[in-house]
Amino acid sequence: MSKNVLRIKKAVHSFLKELRSDPHRLPYMGDKHYCPICKTGVNHFRTIDYHLIEPADRYQMVYPMFSFETMNMFAYSCPRCYSNDRDRLYALYIEQRLAGTPDGKKYNLLDIAPSLLSGYLRAMPQLNYRSADLYNPADDKVDITDMNIYEDGRFDIFICSHVLEHIKDDMKAMRELRRVLKPGGWGIAMVPITNAIEETYENDAITTDADRWKYFGQDDHVRMYSKKGFVGNLEKAGFKVDQLGVDHFGRDVFDRHGIHPRSILYIVS
Ligand SMILES: [Zn+2]
Repeated sequence: MSKNVLRIKKAVHSFLKELRSDPHRLPYMGDKHYCPICKTGVNHFRTIDYHLIEPADRYQMVYPMFSFETMNMFAYSCPRCYSNDRDRLYALYIEQRLAGTPDGKKYNLLDIAPSLLSGYLRAMPQLNYRSADLYNPADDKVDITDMNIYEDGRFDIFICSHVLEHIKDDMKAMRELRRVLKPGGWGIAMVPITNAIEETYENDAITTDADRWKYFGQDDHVRMYSKKGFVGNLEKAGFKVDQLGVDHFGRDVFDRHGIHPRSILYIVS
C-alpha cells in the first residue's frame, strides 16, 4: 500500500474514532481554530452555555453583557476538552513564558481554586504543580486570606483566576499571594471586570441572590471590579501589574484560539 493510502486510512480511522466518542462534536470538527489545552483543531468553539448567563437576564444585571473583559460568548468553550476562553489565554501565555526553560529546571506553581487547566499544568515537565482550595478537592485545603501552610516565597508562579471576587477581604488575599511568591516570581491574577464602571462597586447591603446577580454579576460574588479598582488593589498589595492584550499576542493568535480582542491578561510580579 502506498504511503498516501496509509495516511488517508489513518486519518479516516482517527476521524471515526473521534466521532464515535462524541457524535455531537461533528459540526465542530475542523482546523480553522485550535485549542492549546487539548491540542486539537476545531472548526469553531461552542457559544457560552445558556444556563451560565440566563440569571443575568432574569435579575436584570445592570452591566451591559458585552462590557466584560476576557469573555468570549461566541467562542466560549472547546467542544472537546470544555476549556473556556480564559483557560486558553492562560495556556498560551504559560507556554510562551516557559519556552526555553532549561532541561531539568522546575518551577513551583500554585493553582488557587483549580479549573480545567489543572490537568494541562500538571503534565507540564517544567512545573511542580500544587493546587489549593478551601471548599473543593485540591492538593491542599487552604484559605487564601491565610495561607500559613506555605512559607514566604514558596512559589515561583501562581494562578488566581476568578477567586478574588468571592472574597470579602480581597486585599488580605492579595497580600498573601504576594507573601508566598518568590522574589522574581510572577502570577496570573484575573477577576471578572466590566468596562462599564470607573470604580469597583461594593455594597454590604447587597446580600440576596437576585441583588448580587444584578449588581455583582453572580450570586456568590461580593463586588464588581472596575479595571482601575482591580489594578489599584494589586498595586496596593505590592505587585507590579502588566496588562497583556491583543497587542501582545496578536490578532491572528487571539482569533485562532477563540479569544476575544477585548481580553486582557493581568500578570503580576
Ligand atoms: Zn480543548
